[in-house]
Amino acid sequence: MDLCSVSRIREMLAENGLSPRKSLGQNFLINPRIPAMIAERSADLARINVSGEARVGVIEIGPGIGALTAELAEVFDRVIAVEIDTGLAELFEKTFADFENVKLIVGDVMKTDVPALLEDHFGDILASGGSVSVCANLPYYITTPVIMKLLESFDPTGKCPFSSLTVMIQSEVADRLTARAGTPEYGSITASVSLRADVVKNFDVSPGSFYPPPKVTSTVISIIPHGGIRERFSDAPEDDIECRDFYDATSKIIDASFAQRRKTLTNALSGMYPKESVASALIRLGKNPDIRGERLSAEDFCALAFQLNTRKE
Ligand code: SAM
Repeated sequence: MDLCSVSRIREMLAENGLSPRKSLGQNFLINPRIPAMIAERSADLARINVSGEARVGVIEIGPGIGALTAELAEVFDRVIAVEIDTGLAELFEKTFADFENVKLIVGDVMKTDVPALLEDHFGDILASGGSVSVCANLPYYITTPVIMKLLESFDPTGKCPFSSLTVMIQSEVADRLTARAGTPEYGSITASVSLRADVVKNFDVSPGSFYPPPKVTSTVISIIPHGGIRERFSDAPEDDIECRDFYDATSKIIDASFAQRRKTLTNALSGMYPKESVASALIRLGKNPDIRGERLSAEDFCALAFQLNTRKE
């Protein structure tokens, strides 16, 4: 099945009265090496912590014509694909009619109940010791909201159930997700994702690998969930309810710290905590009280939230 040929893609779209929709981030993969490389990386990560016989499943977001789906179907036991475009969905159903391990859900991933999807379509795989991953050439207009939604659909006191999320995104966003504190790329999304997962870059993909070509270079990253907030910060409360409150407080501090990036933390957080409290918490943590949020790692934000909310004077 050649789903990466530009002429074939044009033909399939035309036969179904379709054309690429920019508003839905439709840039289809036409370099056949790339879908195979993404699927292989995703499957390698899926198998790391499971036994040899265990089954592995994957959720694909935005399968489009199906170039990546075809490769995922080769290396995963089950593929559940979520596509918003009803025209593309019809085309996809025809192409994959004979694939027993591929199922399409027509809908908006941003409105999908992710834990329910996991339970309904992968409950058996998870119960028998297998793993579930996410893999996608993400529509760029919702890159960070989708990543945050997938990670935040689960309780922060434990590990997010996905073994990994291997996704193609704009290189600029990949730089932000992997940035170190104190660098210009570092921001709220870096620290927020770090509360849930570690991020690694896999490889870059040039605009010529897509039809139509996007204006930017893309990068395939893997987001690998860790054990949750308690793994990131060992002093996080043992009680689950207190720990959830602690996670929420940390997230709010991160958001407020980057809302006005050039402000010092004492000023940026002044709507939430008295300036003196923030200054003395920073001093207790060995930081300069005039520091800006962009210099704090996710662990530092946890420590600050702990000082401001949990620590008894
Ligand atoms: N996977 C295909 C490939 O690699 O060639 C297509 C990738 S294209 C970058 C993004 C796909 O996501 C399109 O098929 C688009 O219709 C779909 N999409 C856009 N927004 C979506 C949403 N909110 N929920 C589900 N799918 C969406």
